[in-house]
Amino acid sequence: MKQPILGCIADDLTGAADLANNLVRAGMRVILAIDAPAGQAPPDADAVVVALKSRSIPAPEALAQSLQSCRWLRHQGVRQIYFKICSTFDSTPKGNIGPVIEALMEELDCAFSVVAPAFPDNDRTVYKGHLFVGDVLLSESGMRSHPLNPMTDANLVRFLELQLHGANQRKTGLIDYASVAVSADAIRARITALRMAGVSIAIADTLNNDDLYRLAAALREDPMVTASSGLAIALPAQWGFKASRATAQLPPAQGRRAIVSGSCSAAANAQVLHFLEGGGSAFSLDPTRLAKDAGALIEQALTWARQCWSRDTSQPLLVYSTSPPEAVKAAHQRLGAARCGELIEHALAAITRALVFQGAGQLVVAGGETAGVCIRALEIKQMRIGPQIDPGVPWCYAAAPHLPLGHLHLALKSGNFGSGNFFTKAFSVLDQLAKAEP
Ligand code: ADP
Repeated sequence: MKQPILGCIADDLTGAADLANNLVRAGMRVILAIDAPAGQAPPDADAVVVALKSRSIPAPEALAQSLQSCRWLRHQGVRQIYFKICSTFDSTPKGNIGPVIEALMEELDCAFSVVAPAFPDNDRTVYKGHLFVGDVLLSESGMRSHPLNPMTDANLVRFLELQLHGANQRKTGLIDYASVAVSADAIRARITALRMAGVSIAIADTLNNDDLYRLAAALREDPMVTASSGLAIALPAQWGFKASRATAQLPPAQGRRAIVSGSCSAAANAQVLHFLEGGGSAFSLDPTRLAKDAGALIEQALTWARQCWSRDTSQPLLVYSTSPPEAVKAAHQRLGAARCGELIEHALAAITRALVFQGAGQLVVAGGETAGVCIRALEIKQMRIGPQIDPGVPWCYAAAPHLPLGHLHLALKSGNFGSGNFFTKAFSVLDQLAKAEP
């Protein structure tokens, strides 16, 4: 059994899966752990990704969870800590990105650390310290009106410094494109110059994948990096890993097929519509009906699933609360946004668990928060990462002796990821996996 080289701390679950997916595609064998597991056997993998739910919680809690994960990962022998953040830098002036970076720097005795938020393949680039989403500045993108982390300043050098409140009064700076475009040596020279100027945390300009490879070469010996999942396409090569289908192998899938969608993103709405138009069997969860009698509606959904599967065990079933923005707005006005979210998350988690006990062994979950509650309801602690379905979304495999089949295949999709035919595509990827088995 090999010791892992890279230890990652991701601030949300679907982001963790996205990062793990890029590492697997670049040739690493990856285990995703839910929270920092205590007392479990060390993972047999080249990289371990700990999935936290620390993006939008109070900063002191995010620090505590991140430090606990860091200590556990170091105990597994990892050489580098990768703090994975969102490529749209989701955070507020209070954090949590800056405070977590400072805490990890203290923990790792790290005098200088680099932040690389760009993910060019997903159209997130950084130039002169400013984050662009496609052709527009972050502050002019849809992220401007995000409900939890409205991003109104695209200047990350300035915005990150606002978040730093540590005793060391750290200053932020820029590894500008004039160095990133040249070579790893030029990047290191720029870091030396910034350190001499009293800077200890620097945002890296990045326009394309070649920039990511030069950054990875410059950072391969650093005790920590902070990045979106973009840098993960380039880091493994620095330690000699090469892309290979073998790293994405998973055991064959078994059991019935279910999809649970709690995301209300544009992509999820299109995916649900595509499934319905293709004649797929689906059950819609309406928040107002849930508020009247959640138990009855959950029971109705489960009876429906039993009847569908008694006719044809091979058909994938969809249970969804996914709705267009007007319907979500109306539900929020009727019930309040927090209560609405709670009702739906609780119902989807209970239904997911019950579907697995009805024989589901292949499960797609759409929505970051939704995936988090479902995975906790299933008491899954670790997953091996397999083949990609669409960019950012891999199939995962969890050994689960406490569940009827003893294991489960899962695809956890961040709301906005995936093509219109994602749900059907996901299962055809598993079919191909089965055919490729020796
Ligand atoms: P995404 O990844 O798209 O952000 P999440 O699962 O993280 O998806 O978040 C979706 C949130 O919206 C959850 O809290 C969920 O409970 C809530 N939600 C889902 N369906 C509805 C609905 N029909 N009306 C109101 N809120 C909803």
